[in-house]
Amino acid sequence: MKVRVDPEVCQGHTLCAMNAPDLFALRDEDGHAYAVDEEVPAGKEDLARDAARTCPEQAIVLS
Ligand code: SF4
Repeated sequence: MKVRVDPEVCQGHTLCAMNAPDLFALRDEDGHAYAVDEEVPAGKEDLARDAARTCPEQAIVLS
């Protein structure tokens, strides 16, 4: 499973980075989130799905 954050859509609510700090972090420059690793680590798929589902901007894209 791959994960990415659309930087144009992310509003930096930090929800994803708080709930799944292994998967998401926030850029110092603009406060927008990015995926720590484009490839979701084994066993973290549900966390990635939850993050995508709960992102208020639907900025998290799974593939
Ligand atoms: S929850 Fe969504 S909008 Fe908020 S920081 Fe994460 S990706 Fe960006």
